[in-house]
Amino acid sequence: MASSAPLPVLTDTFHSGIPARLLDSAARVRARLYSHRTLPPTHARTEVELPVLPPEITRKDFEDAIVALRDTVGGENVVINDQPLADGWYIEHPNTHDAYHIFEAGDSVSSAVVYPGSTDEVVAVVKWANKYEIPIYPISMGRNLGYGGAAPRVRGSVVVDLGKRMNTVLKIDGANCSCLVEPGVSYYKLYEEVQKTGLPLWIDPPDLGGGSVLGNAVDRGVGYTLYGDHFGNHCGMEVVLPTGDIVRTGMGALPGPDGNDNPTWQSFQYGYGPYADGIFTQSNFGIVTKMGFWLMPATEHLTFMLTFPREDDYEGIIDVLRELMVRRVLGNVPQLRHVIQELAVTGLPRTAFYSSGKGIMPREVIREHAKKLPCGDCSWVFYGTVYAENKDAVTKAFENVRDAFATRITGVRALLPSDVPEDHYLHARVRVCSGTPDIRELDWLNWVPNAGHLFFAPICPTQPKDARTLYTIVERAHVKYGFDLFPTYCVATREMHLIVNIVYDRADPDAKKRALACMREMIADSAAAGYGEYRTHLMLADQVVRTYGWNNNAQLRFHEALKDALDPVGILAPGRAGIWPKRYRGRGWELLPGDERTTSSPAK
Ligand code: ADP
Repeated sequence: MASSAPLPVLTDTFHSGIPARLLDSAARVRARLYSHRTLPPTHARTEVELPVLPPEITRKDFEDAIVALRDTVGGENVVINDQPLADGWYIEHPNTHDAYHIFEAGDSVSSAVVYPGSTDEVVAVVKWANKYEIPIYPISMGRNLGYGGAAPRVRGSVVVDLGKRMNTVLKIDGANCSCLVEPGVSYYKLYEEVQKTGLPLWIDPPDLGGGSVLGNAVDRGVGYTLYGDHFGNHCGMEVVLPTGDIVRTGMGALPGPDGNDNPTWQSFQYGYGPYADGIFTQSNFGIVTKMGFWLMPATEHLTFMLTFPREDDYEGIIDVLRELMVRRVLGNVPQLRHVIQELAVTGLPRTAFYSSGKGIMPREVIREHAKKLPCGDCSWVFYGTVYAENKDAVTKAFENVRDAFATRITGVRALLPSDVPEDHYLHARVRVCSGTPDIRELDWLNWVPNAGHLFFAPICPTQPKDARTLYTIVERAHVKYGFDLFPTYCVATREMHLIVNIVYDRADPDAKKRALACMREMIADSAAAGYGEYRTHLMLADQVVRTYGWNNNAQLRFHEALKDALDPVGILAPGRAGIWPKRYRGRGWELLPGDERTTSSPAK
């Protein structure tokens, strides 16, 4: 893939491309990323025979099963994974393996990819998997980079890529302010479709817009408007269970008149009886084929930066933040970042700031460069947004927020979009925080060559003491393992998601090893202090799930009981979220701390 090749464009027939309005930005982003790349475009396969087979399946049985699968969904909709592995980049990403591999590129690979075109075809694929006892792994877009991408947990699984042929926005309801989407609808696509209606509605994009709206919500991702809790703002699901039955949740379980969908499916989340939706998130209990979401009515808004001079200011910042958020003066998901991220979001490599490049970038070097940027010589940068009915109310809300910080902390500076150059990152935050998906966030991937990233994402109360404890843990691990620390607190009222982004060079085996060790240590140390991750990389799920181990792992045992009941043959995404079906449990698949294995497969 050359950096000058035409970019795939989002069209009615191609769901995964970049919208035309972002083509120039995407071309710039890609050219910059490729300019630091030393890895060859593809990894040669080292296996003697391809494809890699699912566990305990002979090549003959696999081949017979593939013939049957092709008969079921059409030959063109089944692709064997026997090609060299191309990592590509965010937009041109693979569905064959994890592009941000933390083991070898060829470790987390599928045997084949199947592209169902309807819920009925998903049912047929599930029934096929049960019959041939072949593990399947559903993805929507496969852009869950930093958490495992499109890779299955069990090597040789068949990836069920839902997005390619199931990517329709089924409904946009202007009066109800809601939509109903299929798995392959990206934030880019939903935005375009809403624009076409002319309705004054916003979507809620995360930092980048190429992920699936549905996939992000089932992995419980966040965005940044008032509707930033994606699972919290969904309404109704359609799910294919691991045995092939189809359920609709919430009001969708009650048939509408004349064979129509229930008219309140996207209005009331709960329906009657146990609220099941949660068990289909961060799990392997079903394949979600439709999902409803609430859309935010467009409103006046102002996104701004506040800078704080001292490292130690952040404890005071968190106190003020909590008060503002609990009182709903601030209602979105604002971010508090360390000033080093202002350097990273310029898109320049760390060597541009720190030519010797030795060890972690020293504070004085960060300071020297921050001085030359609009943020100036500061320690913390807050990106917030206020929303109101009209411009005056927005200005007043902004002044309230600014003054609340300024009365408690000295040296606070406020910067509005009009105060910074056109290419400043603040403008990207303006777009994202007002419902327009962007691509700018990729710029920090230029920090090191061939960058991959891993997210450490623990939750803590919005309290200075907790933030300090957690910060000390991550800082210590980063110093020990030699990574610059990129901490972002995403604040959701009473708790904060601390998102720490380890950026490593995929061509450097030692950096990969250190990144993994750093993650494992942060997970363990945080859990010992009472903090757990809200989401994690597929290969770290076994460790994380055991940190939620109250009462002799009662929660995991509950999940395993559900798994065995819902998926008796154990075909659906074994190991996802640390949940293993009976036939895999206790047979060496679990990747636990202290395990020196550098492969996702069990020791022989
Ligand atoms: P993204 O939407 O960010 O591109 P993915 O499609 O990779 O991300 O989805 C993230 C994860 O969520 C996947 O690895 C998969 O385990 C799970 N997932 C995605 N879509 C579905 C779905 N429709 N049903 C069940 N699980 C899903």
